[in-house]
Order: sequence, then C-alpha cells, then structure tokens
Amino acid sequence: MPSFRAPRGTRDLLPAERPAWERLAAIASDLARRYGYASIETPIFEQTAVFERGVGEATDIVEKELFRIQPRSEEAESWALRPEGTAGIVRAYVQHGLHTLPQPVRVQYLGPMFRYDRPQAGRYRQFWQWDVEAIGDPGPAIDAEIVELGHRFYVEAGLPNVKVLLNSIGDGACRPAYVTELTAYFASHRERLPELERSRLATNPLRLLDSKDPEMAALIAAAPRIVDRLCDACRTHFDAVRAHLDALGVPVRLEPSLVRGLDYYTRTAFEFYREGAEGQQQALGGGGRYDGLVQLLGGKPTPGIGFALGLDRVVLALAEERIAAPAPAHPAVFVTGADPADTVSRLRFATDLRHGGICARADLGQRRLSRQLEQAAREGAHFAVILGDELREGLVQLRDLRAASQHPVPLADLAREIERGEQSHRHG
Ligand code: AMP
Repeated sequence: MPSFRAPRGTRDLLPAERPAWERLAAIASDLARRYGYASIETPIFEQTAVFERGVGEATDIVEKELFRIQPRSEEAESWALRPEGTAGIVRAYVQHGLHTLPQPVRVQYLGPMFRYDRPQAGRYRQFWQWDVEAIGDPGPAIDAEIVELGHRFYVEAGLPNVKVLLNSIGDGACRPAYVTELTAYFASHRERLPELERSRLATNPLRLLDSKDPEMAALIAAAPRIVDRLCDACRTHFDAVRAHLDALGVPVRLEPSLVRGLDYYTRTAFEFYREGAEGQQQALGGGGRYDGLVQLLGGKPTPGIGFALGLDRVVLALAEERIAAPAPAHPAVFVTGADPADTVSRLRFATDLRHGGICARADLGQRRLSRQLEQAAREGAHFAVILGDELREGLVQLRDLRAASQHPVPLADLAREIERGEQSHRHG
C-alpha cells in the first residue's frame, strides 16, 4: 500500500485548526472594508519573468526559492508559483490599465504563497499572506496609512505588543553612491566575510546587511548607514513618514540595517516583530515602498507601497501567547427519529430547517434512536429534534441537550423555539 503524505513543507489545516485562520481572514477583511482597500485576486502562478523582474534575480526568493513549473514542451512559456503577491498585483495593474482609476488604487487579498525553502518552524513551502497594496501615491502620508493598517491587524488579532522596525533605503538618487560605499566597506573586510556573503557582495551588496550570520553582526553594526546618506528628497520623505506615524501613535523603532530582501524597494522599508521575538523566522510581516516596480513590469513610472503579513506565524504567535482559538461551530439542531430506516424524514426535516436559516444536521445512518442521540451530543448540538408518531398530529419532541429537558413542540413553533433557545444560550 502506498502511504501518501502532504508534500514536505506543506500542511493540512484540519477542521479543528481552521477557525483560527478564518478568524484572521475575517479581521483582515473587516479592516480592508473600514480602510477602503478593495479585494483583488491574481493567479497563483505567473510567467517566471514577472518574479525575476519584479522581485529581483539576485534575491534568495528568485535564485533559490522559486517553485518553477516544469514546461510541457521545449517552447512552452516558463511559469512559477508565486513567492509573494506584489509582483502579480503590479502586473495586473499594468495589464488592465488601472492607472486610469482614481489613484492610489488600494487593493488587498489573502492567499497562499510558495517558496522552495528548507522547511523549519515558522518557515513552510506553502504559507499564507495577507497582502495590501496602494499603487499610485508617492506618499508620505499613505506610507503611514499602510504601516498603521499592518500594525492594527496585529492589535485586532490579539497581539498588541507588535512593533514596527522602520528604515529608509533611499532611491535612485542616493542609493547608488551608498551601495558603492557599502561595497567598498565590506570588500575591505573581505577576509572576515562568510563564503555566502562574499558571493553576494558582487551581486547584491545590500543583502549583506540582512545577514543573520552571527559572524556578520559586528561588521553590520559598524557599516555605513543608508539613513545617514539619504538625499534631501528621501530625508524629507522619511521624516514626514515618521511624523505621521508618531501622530497615529504607532510604536516604531528605527532600524538602520533593515533593507528587506527584495530588489524593488525604495525609501520606506518596514517589518513587524513581536516584542522579544526578533530572531530569524520570527518576522510577522513586512513591506515597503516600490516606486520603480510598475515601470519594471512595463507600466509608466508609478509609485507604490504595500505589505505582506504572514498568517502562519501569527497563528503560531497566538498559540504561544495562549490566545484561545475559536471553537469549531456546533449545529443548533440534530434531527433524530424513532424509525432508524426513515432517513427521508430526517433529511427532509433538516433541509427545511436549513432553508429557514437554522444550522441543522440529521442522523443519516440507520441506527437506533439512543445511538442517534449519543451522536447528537458528540457533535455538540444544542437541541435534538426527535421525530416519532406524534408527527401525524404535527408535533415533535424537542430535547435541549444542554439543559437535559424535553417537551413536545408544534411544528409551526419549532424554528422560533430553537432560535429563542440559541439566543438565550448566546447571551448566557
Ligand atoms: P517577506 O516578504 O519575505 O518578508 O515575507 C513577509 C512575511 O511572510 C514574513 O514576515 C513571514 O511572516 C511570512 N513568510 C515569508 N516566508 C515564509 C515562509 N517560508 N513560511 C512562512 N511564512 C513566511
């Protein structure tokens, strides 16, 4: 017998776990409504070039982690599963000419992302992100709106101690000179660089600042800082972003070595961490401004900013903080019957209740009434309806499984009684 398993680095989210995820999705969708971010959906795979250009060829995400789909023939187009959401959304913005809508275009969605990475705690090959983007506004106020929205998600999810690490990584006017200076700095310490960092020095020197290698900590701390090298426009922008965040009361810590792994970021870069949990695989989310991305993907020069929050890590953090997940929903009513063979009546009865808006299940097996009632209790139903001979007189027995009481109820009153019972239960 083959024994099949979910692919390495992926997980089944079983019914007992899903309510925690659905709760987060509901918080995200309610925030999106209140903040005015419309829903968008893009394909789970794209032309590989969308990611190569949009994320950057010299990033881990594209170099090592891209889930490439094997082409079916020589000339077939090359596809890859999306490792993040922004590139696909910006591709859609360009393809559908969304620059003709009122700007910025505020959009959001929640869905799975794929990275071919070594699986470990908090790092999976399929994981879920809530992505929020505002395309077409150069900021700085929108930067603060976006950062505050991300922070607010954690507060509403039950993680009030999440703080924002913030940096500006400059733009085309000031970053090139800084990168040259940074490259010279690290090159002068070449002999102290671990092998991997040495190879990165040639392709993407900013990434050395992202290194979590303990050998690198002292070198990074003494490295030239981009915040000290910003051009006037970037400096003014950064100061204004901070002033807006201050005014909103968002807890921010400046982090000069925060550069984010992606090539397309300009100016504002940020990450979310829980107080005391700032190690690798512990970033709960991150984002930044990407003023060059729309053009890179074939559009007119257009500014943009967004974030991606990793839901897997939020679920883990909530469990660590012992924040109770909602329980799976129980049926209000479980329909049972004295005649084990009469599944027609039980199913029809449950169907009528369902059509009337009541959460009902029926016992569809052919077991004895006592067994059916046991099943009703196991499924956590509040009431059991018992169909018997009295049905001819228009009556059923309604058993309150929580109060352990039972009485006959005319069919015409049943829905009302169940709803009343449910309500008084909900309000204690
Ligand atoms: P990134 O754009 O890579 O910073 O990703 C944004 C957020 O997505 C991170 O802060 C994580 O919470 C989450 N994330 C990224 N990669 C993974 C992964 N392989 N497994 C689980 N969560 C991830």
